[in-house]
Amino acid sequence: VSHYMVKPIKMKGLLEILRNVVETDSPAVSAALSKSLAKPEEKPVTPRHILLAEDNPVNQQLAIRLLQKMGHTVVMTGNGREALEAFAKEEFDLILMDVQMPEMDGFAATGTIREQEKVSRKHIPIIAMTARAMKGDRERCLEAGMDDYISK
Ligand code: MN
Repeated sequence: VSHYMVKPIKMKGLLEILRNVVETDSPAVSAALSKSLAKPEEKPVTPRHILLAEDNPVNQQLAIRLLQKMGHTVVMTGNGREALEAFAKEEFDLILMDVQMPEMDGFAATGTIREQEKVSRKHIPIIAMTARAMKGDRERCLEAGMDDYISK
């Protein structure tokens, strides 16, 4: 193990570690990296179809790049209303939901999805993305029907 992260995983920290690993001086790590890059089919990550709801353009690009690099497919939406439209059209494995968005925020969108699921009897994992790691955020996310949260 050359690096480790303390949960909750932050995007900034994840990027930093990826950068460090890629720019490492260690020949052993470099060799292991190029080997793993040469054989993408051996990636332990199961490809998922992810719905991303995020209004900040910088965070959008960051998240899309990271997720696609991990082998996932991503549908990008800019607010809760757009996320609901995408959710109605397609099947997803996971939703990454920004909390603060214009038009409809992440709490309202999650609430609507959970209402719909009372009929469909499904449960899609919804992970909140919050800018502030404030005390009480986790409770508020869980109350809104989110399964977990990561701070950005
Ligand atoms: Mn936002």
